[in-house]
Amino acid sequence: MSGGLAPSKLAMVPFVSVDDMMRIVNAAGVAPTIAAIADRIEADFLRWESFDKVARIPSHSEEGVIELMPTSDGEFYGFKYVNGHPANMARGFQTVTAFGVLARVDNGYPVMLSEMTVLTALRTAATSVMAARHLAPKGARGMAMIGNGAQCEFQALGFHHCLGVEEVRLWDIDPAATRKAARNLADSGLRVTACASAEEAIAGAQIITTCTADKRQATILTDNMVGAGVHLNAIGGDCPGKTELHRDILMRSDIFVEYPPQTRVEGEIQQLPPDHPVTELWRVIAGQAPGRQSDGQITLFDSVGFATEDFSALRHIHGEALRTGHYVDLDMLADPDDPRDLFGMVTRAADGG
Ligand code: NAD
Repeated sequence: MSGGLAPSKLAMVPFVSVDDMMRIVNAAGVAPTIAAIADRIEADFLRWESFDKVARIPSHSEEGVIELMPTSDGEFYGFKYVNGHPANMARGFQTVTAFGVLARVDNGYPVMLSEMTVLTALRTAATSVMAARHLAPKGARGMAMIGNGAQCEFQALGFHHCLGVEEVRLWDIDPAATRKAARNLADSGLRVTACASAEEAIAGAQIITTCTADKRQATILTDNMVGAGVHLNAIGGDCPGKTELHRDILMRSDIFVEYPPQTRVEGEIQQLPPDHPVTELWRVIAGQAPGRQSDGQITLFDSVGFATEDFSALRHIHGEALRTGHYVDLDMLADPDDPRDLFGMVTRAADGG
């Protein structure tokens, strides 16, 4: 290309829009996509040490937080831009929106730009499922889902498809959210029970997922609500000053985390002293630390969401986008014939090529 008017194919960057993401996901199926991403996240946790790791970089405001989540495995680099604004839903916006980039490390060129709002819900469900494979009681068939917002159905479907959960018991302070989730899950194969309280939802559930959004230290579950032997999949507490579980529950639980420097600041364990023992999930997956050890043990996955999970999800979608053609090319990289002649490219474009 000479003047910059007709970008060369090499300099084009595939862009996966929300529409493309939905095409990719619906072609494969939501649950199989969660399963595929869970396998990829697990494979990447197994090579934990090959990743650059850093706690995500937050910019806090009164209304919420905007975060950057970068990582690299030496071959690819990825980052996600994500916000968390609990008051958004009441204003008609999503609580969480995201987009991300995957790039080659050898020349630094982006290979994909993607929406990640849908992808975050898929990867969060995938990570929950992956953790539960190692931590939940074997043969668990019932899950309580506290918080029936945007993440809810992805979680429920993931647990049904990947772990054999048969019943989901829904509770949300907003009955409209529960009605929405029940409607969306009606043909999922799950037995769906709408409950009138958190207590009712957790009755008999071996897995309890908390997935609420409130920018404060909430107590979604109190100590007396959590019986021996359950697995807690705590997703909603993911920011300083934003937790869901009473501290006493943490004291009775064996706690598993993604990346301790980030979880100590953002997770449920921000309520505990900085030296309170926790187990890194990747060690369990690598066989270096035990997961669930007894029937009576309370396991807690203190999920906050870590950059490698988004990286794994981006790698999966990159492959699917190229395979299915569900993307558009973006003219995102300047590509002068002579790499040093950036200026000439601009001025030739003014002359019409
Ligand atoms: P959302 O706003 O769509 O849904 C949240 C739901 O929680 C709403 O329906 C609300 O009515 C309900 N709720 C609030 N307080 C409640 C309470 N006390 N009891 C029961 N229900 C209550 O949000 P979302 O996108 O579903 O996300 C939920 C939470 O998960 C957010 O806090 C978000 O930051 C977090 N999140 C974490 C991860 C992770 O990787 N750990 C990933 C995505 C989202």
